[in-house]
Amino acid sequence: MEIAKLEPLIVLTGAGISAESGVPTFRGAEGLWRTYRAEELATPIAFHRDPLLVWEFYAWRRELIAACEPNQAHWLLADIEKQISDFTLITQNVDGLHAAAGSRNIIEIHGSIWRMRCTSCGDRWDDGNVPLEKLPPPCPGCGEKARPDVVWFGETLDPEVLDHAFETVQRARVMLVIGTSGIVYPAAELPRVGKMHGAKLIEINTEITPISGIADQVYQSKATIGLQDWWADQQKD
Ligand code: NAD
Ligand code: ZN
Repeated sequence: MEIAKLEPLIVLTGAGISAESGVPTFRGAEGLWRTYRAEELATPIAFHRDPLLVWEFYAWRRELIAACEPNQAHWLLADIEKQISDFTLITQNVDGLHAAAGSRNIIEIHGSIWRMRCTSCGDRWDDGNVPLEKLPPPCPGCGEKARPDVVWFGETLDPEVLDHAFETVQRARVMLVIGTSGIVYPAAELPRVGKMHGAKLIEINTEITPISGIADQVYQSKATIGLQDWWADQQKD
């Protein structure tokens, strides 16, 4: 295989790549917490109304994710990155599993559940403690309440991070889209833009999605199997 034929290789991942690690997706049957749907809690309105409730949800998510490990798909992506010099991983996931598997060039467009942001002074800091001592966690600088440094439903993405992601997909020769529903915007726009700029689009998902129709190739399977199959197919070419 000629590796150069795959470069620049840009990978976009969503909640589906972490499903086999035991992290539930929001839309799946396991997306419920108590009686709430995630989409009802991961919002600025919910946090304004009841910060403690939203923090209890995130404390539960952090505990759940802390007990999870990267799966074969996370590991293989980290391995592929070692072999390809022009490689970028754009993820919608906030779970940190790509970094845990050894991926390096990562754009986390939806932030990280392991980072806090002060609602008052705007400071950000890493916090991997599970469980958290106090909910809502206080800002070490000003004492006001922190929030998870993630992008909630109804919020806009950091414009710099988003610009970086769009510039990156425009350069793509091959774009792999793994485990993302293609309905959360603006992330769902990324495969379209990549394709418009000439990328070969490969989708790996257990379901058919709005991206499937524009993909050059669809692996309708779990992330671990689909990625392994795609990588094996590249060795044949
Ligand atoms: P999403 O929009 O990325 O949808 C998940 C997709 O994964 C679906 O299309 C589903 O068919 C697919 N899928 C499920 N299991 C799979 C598997 N084993 N292999 C391949 N594909 C699989 O994600 P969402 O759940 O609707 O969440 C929306 C947003 O919420 C995310 O973009 C993210 O910011 C946040 N979120 C993050 C995590 C995480 O960090 N692991 C988990 C849930 C939600
Ligand atoms: Zn503060």
